[in-house]
Amino acid sequence: MNVPALNQQLIDFIHASPTPFHATGELKTLLQSAGFVELDEARHWHLQRGGRYLVTRNDSSLVAFTLGEQHPADSGLRMLGAHTDSPCLHVKPQPDLVSNGYYQLGVEVYGGALLNPWFDRDLSIAGRLSYRDANGRLGSTLIDFQAPVAVIPSLAIHLDRDVNQSRSINPQLHLPPVLMQTGDAAHVEFRRLLLELAREQHPEQGIDAVLEFELCLYDCQPGALVGLEQEFIAGARLDNLLSCFVCARALMDSHAGSGQLLVCTDHEEVGSASACGADGPFLKSVLQRICPDPQELARCISRSWLISADNAHGIHPNYADRHDARHGPLLNRGPVIKINAGQRYASNSETAGLFRLLCDQADIPLQSFVVRSDMACGSTIGPLTASNIGVRTLDVGVATFAMHSIRELAGARDTDYLYRALKAFLAYDEDPGSG
Ligand SMILES: [Zn+2]
Repeated sequence: MNVPALNQQLIDFIHASPTPFHATGELKTLLQSAGFVELDEARHWHLQRGGRYLVTRNDSSLVAFTLGEQHPADSGLRMLGAHTDSPCLHVKPQPDLVSNGYYQLGVEVYGGALLNPWFDRDLSIAGRLSYRDANGRLGSTLIDFQAPVAVIPSLAIHLDRDVNQSRSINPQLHLPPVLMQTGDAAHVEFRRLLLELAREQHPEQGIDAVLEFELCLYDCQPGALVGLEQEFIAGARLDNLLSCFVCARALMDSHAGSGQLLVCTDHEEVGSASACGADGPFLKSVLQRICPDPQELARCISRSWLISADNAHGIHPNYADRHDARHGPLLNRGPVIKINAGQRYASNSETAGLFRLLCDQADIPLQSFVVRSDMACGSTIGPLTASNIGVRTLDVGVATFAMHSIRELAGARDTDYLYRALKAFLAYDEDPGSG
């Protein structure tokens, strides 16, 4: 696939995916366009050899899989994993605030967000809401204000002379965004605004009242290629929608004999412990339905491999001492194998060895990351999936700057390197002689 087209598709995908709900919806649409058929967890599944399927949970996590000609117990599955969520600000349930004639929203920080970059951005709001329809029934739908309706202005430097030395942010006091100047008398109610928007965006659903919501603030600015040679991609939620998109694209474009699977789960940024998170039962439940017989399931898992894709910290030229000098990945120098002796990453010499073999054969550069020995290591869905399912797992990712900022930076060539590496992995046949 040509690299500019892949990057433009990635930028468009991220722009259409301001929340995990929207990302899951976009992944579903993308996969359906490649022949994946949606299954309902509440119904009986009749799976066919050679079939392509997808299933979602909580509208925010997705598993897609293809069944090869061989039984998965004989060939195993080539699995890819990523997460749909990103650090952001969530709207509180009773968000209405008025201060000095300004209408503001109470917000809660989701995940380990880098907070400073949220100031002075053109923000919008999107997510999922539950409603009561005209017949008194419960419904659920996605909404998106799309336009820049909110902003968190910085305090002027004249009112905080030490700001460049010591700016700290109190999330309760300093983050409520400004949405409107109301004057003294006007009365705005957020649920009323939501009801109007939901009715406008979904007139066919007969929405009578908004019951509850899960809404995120996001930056309206679309992603872009930047740099003198446009060698960087700047955008929101590159962690980890970049991996979700590239994994989905690789799965869609693969036609291998072994079965393949993609799992994209929500709640990674807050620990993954949820009904649809990587530390929950979603993937296991799908695998049990692919291989209902416990013997076959055990054989399938034992023959399977999982690559968990999540971004890695590139060595920052202005802060190079934050990396181990021998393990500071560069942008645009290929995927990064993430290794940690304490199993914060699930990579081992067998899974990393396979990936190195495949990258060597496909002429794809490869790097490795180990955190400095005197610093704590991050983690991701790899170790959780490995320990819950028992599958051989590798943690990889593309090198990025500004992880968990509202605008992150990745290498424009790395998307293609990762895509080609994942395609080689999906096509990997452990035992080509067996047919
Ligand atoms: Zn991540």
